[in-house]
Amino acid sequence: MNRKVDILIKDAKIIDGTGRRAYRGNVAIDKGCIARVGNTSQLTGNHQINAKNKIITPGFIDCHTHDDRVLLDDPDMTNKITQGVTTVIAGNCGISLSPFLPGDWEMPIPMPLLGKKNQYCFPSFSDYIRAFNSSPPALNAAFLCGHNTLRAEAMKGDIDRCAEQNEIDQMQEKIRESILHGAIGLSSGLMYPAGFAAPTSEVTALAAEAGRLGGLYATHLRNEAEGLIKSVEEAAEIGRKGNLPVILSHHKVTGRPNWGDTKISLRKIERLAESQTIHLDAYPYTASATALMPERLQIAEEILIVSSEKHPEKTGKYLTEIAKEWGISKIKAAQKLLPAQAIYFAMDEGDVRRVLTHDLTMIGSDGIPGTKFPHPRLWGTFPRVLGYYSREVGLFPLETAIHKMTGLTAKVFGFRNRGVLRKGAIADIAVFDPTTVIDRADFSAPKQRSAGIDHVIVNGEIVLENGIRTSARPGRVIEREA
Ligand SMILES: [Zn+2]
Repeated sequence: MNRKVDILIKDAKIIDGTGRRAYRGNVAIDKGCIARVGNTSQLTGNHQINAKNKIITPGFIDCHTHDDRVLLDDPDMTNKITQGVTTVIAGNCGISLSPFLPGDWEMPIPMPLLGKKNQYCFPSFSDYIRAFNSSPPALNAAFLCGHNTLRAEAMKGDIDRCAEQNEIDQMQEKIRESILHGAIGLSSGLMYPAGFAAPTSEVTALAAEAGRLGGLYATHLRNEAEGLIKSVEEAAEIGRKGNLPVILSHHKVTGRPNWGDTKISLRKIERLAESQTIHLDAYPYTASATALMPERLQIAEEILIVSSEKHPEKTGKYLTEIAKEWGISKIKAAQKLLPAQAIYFAMDEGDVRRVLTHDLTMIGSDGIPGTKFPHPRLWGTFPRVLGYYSREVGLFPLETAIHKMTGLTAKVFGFRNRGVLRKGAIADIAVFDPTTVIDRADFSAPKQRSAGIDHVIVNGEIVLENGIRTSARPGRVIEREA
């Protein structure tokens, strides 16, 4: 007699997330989990999906995001769901929305990337989790605790110095509270004003506390230009002394004179990986995006304005153009636009490809939501890796591309039973057309939905069907099981 399961996906090509070659088969989903993979005879689905000529894979894990606030404010998460993403990792680059309570001092850069003062309203991580669970988003999320957030609060905005012992104690206490309530580790953003004055010893003391509780350390390096190699060494030292795994965020080298230096950084990382756990994430573009910092203009070939509080009419325009229009220098124009966000065209395609193909590299969008004119990575990262870099450029086989978004990421972050398509795993799934999948968002129209992603399932519930969003919001907080 035929047994009924919740969902049966038929006639697909299965890429299971481990890096193993694709094979044909069916996938049965029942009670939130994968009930069977391969031959599903004797099973019928309450809901059946015909996936002929399509690929079925584990849902993608976006391991580098700044989605802390948007998960609460816009829980449909359409920009990610339509890319096949089923889990995001928030709290990167040293900025997390919690635990933090603003004071009567100005929030340092880069904290405004996540929200205004009144939007930082979660003094403890458990407050944030309560808000998340009271109105869950469409996809799963895991959270890092941000060093910049912690130190801005502990030092009451007086961040241009190293922290005193009592301030380090306070930060450690917050890390404990966060990890005990489900955070997966510590992030830092040492390039930013909020973190730059922190000596290695300060970060190590915090990383050690995270490590003691089973967390990991993800870092936006102190310098991604001429100081790249020294910064990689610093991150590795923090990992060794803190006794915890390290993830080098959005690995790249910026500034034309430094192009090509990823050859050296990757060799260095390979050597480090022989004796400690270290991985990378990267996004598939030659432009970065963050706060507009006039002192950093020289690293970029060109700068595109994403937002400006004082001159919103300049959104989507190039700085060169704006400076010309105003008849002033680019530095002066940048100062006039502050506070603002910008896209920096500062990388070389060769470096981007070298990092993407490296065995230790996972895919993370680094997308920054909440502006009218975001970097296109927010809407396009995953289909771009699949459609452009794998299919069109031939940078790596589809199986490798998918491993970098699923199995590898789940393993590095300690997400047990996710990131792989096998019996018993949790049913986070994407079904896409390998011949049409592609990003459509670009630097002139950055909020375009990608093509070719057909079905997305989160925790066994369909959130995208035939390219159309359902109303389901089955997302959960995912913890690290090291
Ligand atoms: Zn960053």
